[in-house]
Amino acid sequence: MYAHCDLCIREYGSMEPDATIAIAFNRDEVNGKTQTPSMTQVRAVFQTACEEWMKYAGVTFKIIVPTEDPETTWSTVDTVYKANVRVTFQGAPNTYTSALGTQSIDPAVFAPGRPSMVLAGVGDNPPRDLLRIVVHELGHVLGFEHEHQHPFYLCSAEIDADMICRTWGLSPREFNANFKALDPSYSFSCDAAIDAQSVMGYSLDQRFFRSGAQSPCFATPGDRLSERDQRCVGKVYPKDKEGRAARYAERLVALESRQGSAMEAAHFAWTRMSARKGKERLPESVK
Ligand SMILES: [Zn+2]
Repeated sequence: MYAHCDLCIREYGSMEPDATIAIAFNRDEVNGKTQTPSMTQVRAVFQTACEEWMKYAGVTFKIIVPTEDPETTWSTVDTVYKANVRVTFQGAPNTYTSALGTQSIDPAVFAPGRPSMVLAGVGDNPPRDLLRIVVHELGHVLGFEHEHQHPFYLCSAEIDADMICRTWGLSPREFNANFKALDPSYSFSCDAAIDAQSVMGYSLDQRFFRSGAQSPCFATPGDRLSERDQRCVGKVYPKDKEGRAARYAERLVALESRQGSAMEAAHFAWTRMSARKGKERLPESVK
């Protein structure tokens, strides 16, 4: 187990420490819609969310502004990747999901013509907590897992699965993909405790928890990185030259570690299945 960071992340799917991560919108969806207030608002929210991560991470998010040039958008007929992050607003309402780390440009998981981030319905009717949602999804883009799937806290047992599945229309498999604790035997990095303010947590009403707000899994994430999020992302994606060199070396050792690679590959395969079948729904915050 590698212990360089507090948030949950697997080396196998992490980006390079100084990666440039391009974000593109779907050609058909933005055609004729780019001037509407909602699309303008969505792009502004993405900009704010990217800047929030870039304050603490050495990566560069690059939003590709859609124009009439097909190169500035992605399409379902693409055979080459136009961007690491391919956003769509199509899908079941309130479904928000993203590929984990390098999965988005792994042809075995996400083909070039397949969206890697789903923000269903957002283009026409942005929810009021859109910034929080986009900040959260960008955390997945960087490879971070859900805080409530912390290997040492069995949040899936704390949460009323029946109520969640009923309320959000999730299958048991989808519930597991988004709530089941990650196996601690894999080379995750996780702090000893859950950070209730982490942007990688869900904003769930306390009625979904068996012990309500007293549950260690009850979280109140905001739309800004928590102090621990800030510290963690700076360790995985350092902004300084020396830190980056150390991270490249650390990452290489982790990826070459025979045992670690085998375990991570096994987990990665499991996540791939989740990515194919799963979806996550973030309900709007309840005041
Ligand atoms: Zn998520």
